[in-house]
Amino acid sequence: MTTETAHLVPYDEAVSRYDPVIGLETHVELGTVTKMFCGCPTTFGLEPNSAVCPVCLGLPGSLPVANRAAIEYTIRIGLALNCTIATWCRFARKNYFYPDMPKNFQISQYDEPLCTDGWLDVSVGGQAIRVGIERVHLEEDTGKSLHVGGATGRIHGADYSLVDYNRAGIPLVEVVTKPVPGAGALAPVVARAYVAELRDLLRALHVSDVRMEEGSLRCDVNTSLAPRGATEWGTRTETKNVNSLRSVERAVRFEIERQAGVLDAGQKVVQETRHFHEDTGRTTSGRSKEEAQDYRYFPEPDLVPVAPAAAWVEQIRAGLPELPAARHARLQSEWGLSDGDMTSLRNAGALDLVEATVAAGASAADASKWWLGDLARHAHERSSELADLPITPDHVARVSALVTEGTLNDKLARQVLEGVLAGEGEPDDIVAARGLAIVSDDAVLAEAVDAAIAARPDVAAKIRDGKTAAVGALIGDVMRATNGRADAGRARELILQRLN
Ligand SMILES: [Zn+2]
Repeated sequence: MTTETAHLVPYDEAVSRYDPVIGLETHVELGTVTKMFCGCPTTFGLEPNSAVCPVCLGLPGSLPVANRAAIEYTIRIGLALNCTIATWCRFARKNYFYPDMPKNFQISQYDEPLCTDGWLDVSVGGQAIRVGIERVHLEEDTGKSLHVGGATGRIHGADYSLVDYNRAGIPLVEVVTKPVPGAGALAPVVARAYVAELRDLLRALHVSDVRMEEGSLRCDVNTSLAPRGATEWGTRTETKNVNSLRSVERAVRFEIERQAGVLDAGQKVVQETRHFHEDTGRTTSGRSKEEAQDYRYFPEPDLVPVAPAAAWVEQIRAGLPELPAARHARLQSEWGLSDGDMTSLRNAGALDLVEATVAAGASAADASKWWLGDLARHAHERSSELADLPITPDHVARVSALVTEGTLNDKLARQVLEGVLAGEGEPDDIVAARGLAIVSDDAVLAEAVDAAIAARPDVAAKIRDGKTAAVGALIGDVMRATNGRADAGRARELILQRLN
């Protein structure tokens, strides 16, 4: 039984009368070389069913052995999230049937997770919000079904289905937050900021490639709503597999509008999983949510308990890199940029690029200007990430230096950047090949200045009369005559000399 509603309450109205509580469950595919319980490779894109063995196919008599690297990665994540690391814990069997899960159970962790009770601070509009972390646990991924012949790619209407077990047994970490109340109208933004912060953290820890679009980081978003001032939280829904930061925000926002409509109509929100649709921005009912007892969890009898030695945990702690929040604060103070600039750099994925550009000699302000301006626009036009553009921080630093030393103005610099992106070579070669350097040679400029004065006697007369504001018009003519390459300051001096 599910409840749909055609009636959505406009967002601002919904959050004026109801308080949302959100929670996030994030699945992270670990970047280990081998699978969680066997030695099969985790390489992406292999021939279907070529990275399989008796263990990950669940053949009778095969026995799993836990992957030490995956346990170490999970502890690294737990420590970075300020969690307590269990001194002793076990894997559990989660029993359910699924065609792409050959054992008919998943080895996961249940009541004894490896890491518990931590937090992650996120910044929303300059305000720090602490998101509690309930648990971080380790489990294995399932295989992948491919439904062939239907219009939708879903099993319904398909002629037949194929299963690829290469993914079965890939180590997955699940990071579960505590419920986050009190965010009010900001709840969708907080959800998004949390996932962005977690993604940056995981990237810094080198435990996963965290590519949401490829599914190595996927989110389930829980949302509930209760009337303002109510002492109990509402019934939550779980929107599954939300695969971009933008979708996380939209999914929460939609659920708030939808649940407000359900509650306004005097109905009850049904506890269920829901699916988010990128195209419409809506969620639709999936299945009613199983209770934990439905999975008949019990300790996995084929694996020994995990008991990480305190010395090992401390060794992992000592090896943690500088975490994003600390790095962010350090770079901001070194660069002297505003909160807004720093947020823009992070959102654009430009922090590393700007850092490298500054290291190559540019000022932080110039590096930010080029990466967030022209280069971000090029990336957008190519639907590419900034870091994937065919231009390096060294290129940008060199272009910036050419502007600082007066060889280029911003307009010419833009053309040099375009040349680099077009594969025309190094900035200096492009300046030479395209003839882009600023012309400050008096002989060349004088010719253009004389031509401009001769062509506009009326303007020249005004300047002679002391109306020096009119000089701009002549400078414009000189710039046009030199394809934007004239040294504007020198052109101004020459014009004024001639008309005084
Ligand atoms: Zn295997």
